[in-house]
Amino acid sequence: MASPSPILVWFRQDLRLADNPALDAAARSGAPVIPVYIHDEQAPADWPMGGASRWWLHHSLGALAEDLAKRGSKLVLRHGPAGAVLDKLIAETGAEAVLWNRLYEPWATQRDAAIKAGLTAKGVKAESFNAALLFEPWTVKTGAHGKKEGGPYKVFTPFWKSCLAKDAPPLPLKTPKALAAPKTWPASDALKSWALLPTEPDWAGGLRAAWTPGEAGAQSKLDGFLKVALTDYDAMRNRPDVDGSSRLSPHLHFGEIGPRQIWHRVQALSDAGKVSATSAATYLKEIGWREFSYHLLFHFPSLPELPLQESFAAFPWRTDPAALAAWQRGRTGYPIVDAGMRQLWATGWMHNRVRMIVGSFLVKHLLLPWQAGEAWFWDTLVDADLASNAASWQWIGGCGADAAPYFRVFNPMLQGAKFDPKGEYVAHWVPELADLPAPLIHAPWTASEIELRAAGVVLGQTYPAPIVEHAGGRERALRAWKSLRESV
Ligand code: FAD
Repeated sequence: MASPSPILVWFRQDLRLADNPALDAAARSGAPVIPVYIHDEQAPADWPMGGASRWWLHHSLGALAEDLAKRGSKLVLRHGPAGAVLDKLIAETGAEAVLWNRLYEPWATQRDAAIKAGLTAKGVKAESFNAALLFEPWTVKTGAHGKKEGGPYKVFTPFWKSCLAKDAPPLPLKTPKALAAPKTWPASDALKSWALLPTEPDWAGGLRAAWTPGEAGAQSKLDGFLKVALTDYDAMRNRPDVDGSSRLSPHLHFGEIGPRQIWHRVQALSDAGKVSATSAATYLKEIGWREFSYHLLFHFPSLPELPLQESFAAFPWRTDPAALAAWQRGRTGYPIVDAGMRQLWATGWMHNRVRMIVGSFLVKHLLLPWQAGEAWFWDTLVDADLASNAASWQWIGGCGADAAPYFRVFNPMLQGAKFDPKGEYVAHWVPELADLPAPLIHAPWTASEIELRAAGVVLGQTYPAPIVEHAGGRERALRAWKSLRESV
């Protein structure tokens, strides 16, 4: 009897074996399975992968390849435009089907629809699945319970309420027990040849120290968080000086863990009374913000580039390369801002509260466009995610769907004193201020000469003086906002 034709499983942002519906369907078919990852330097043209993401991808693909090898399988690496690469692989292997898990970025949905149509026309089965979201964007609609059939949500609270009113997401799938191998394996690129890692200078030391990309790394992060921090999450999630959040964001972005896996583990602990129900609900709500970001990106594909509130297109942003560079390098003279930007540069991650503080500082105190912050985060974050990054920057910029009003300007000193009360976060990332006691560490220019000397700080020399004065920056931002309001 002729052996069945193989099935290609096209991995993308789903770099895991468990709860991977495309892989599971291929494994269950009993046909030989050929796992493939395609690297296309040209896609997406507008949002090429940033440096930190490339570093992560390299290690995540390495981990996936090892996990597959342990099951007698292989990860085939190919580069080039995805459609052409798949066609070539089908010709080489005689594959009868291509299975994948869906992406929601506008460029990817367009590309994937064209690939699906092309394969179907050629008589090759093409099937896609949901691995990345609890609720797919088109399944959550306004007015679903009312008279009118609605459209997309633009406000988070009713969106999440509507999600929670639905059936719970399905239980996660287990890792396939066996993956049948093809008689001959197609050739694979060497991962190294894609040059995803930095060369000279090697800036990735801090990333290596902070992260373990891959499915096992993701699971151990989740285990640690559930054991230690989840129960206090509601109280501690806003504290950058405490390890109070899950740090699962890059693992979620690359699909090394899926939200269904998280959802059911958290619910089970909460149902068993092992963690506080409030913390569990608050944590799942944060996963809900991720869902909401994907909902917005799917329904408003210009989200990464254009303000959702159209009037903001005329906002009088400034151009100031020196101020932007000071912000990027963590040299604004505002300690909590600089601590966040240095944490980002060193580790590829920044605490959510501090992301909000540095974001507000950029678009308000410096009056620089949110897109400039979005672009820097895109390049430097290991969790850079088109949906969450764009939605969050629009929120910060006051121009998003459900945004913080632009006129609410964070005071970086008060934010620092409130969320880093002992100044430990700042002391860690801005060590030149470490000997200043809190709350002075959050506003060194208010310290006396004696206090500064005792801490070894010379403003303008050992640490920058503020690049913009707080009250003046705030007033300038409010004037700009007022002028926009008056012009519409
Ligand atoms: P936890 O508090 O443990 O939350 C669990 C998960 O929920 C996160 O891993 C993340 O997937 C999701 N989540 C939490 N908060 C948000 C949020 N506000 N929006 C969307 N998802 C959320 N997150 C990204 O994943 N990628 C980005 O590119 C990104 N850019 C951001 C830019 C700005 C200006 C701001 C203010 C926030 C941004 N966020 C982004 C959201 C948030 O800061 C991170 O998801 C969070 O800090 C990740 O840390 P954690 O995994 O410990 O979060």
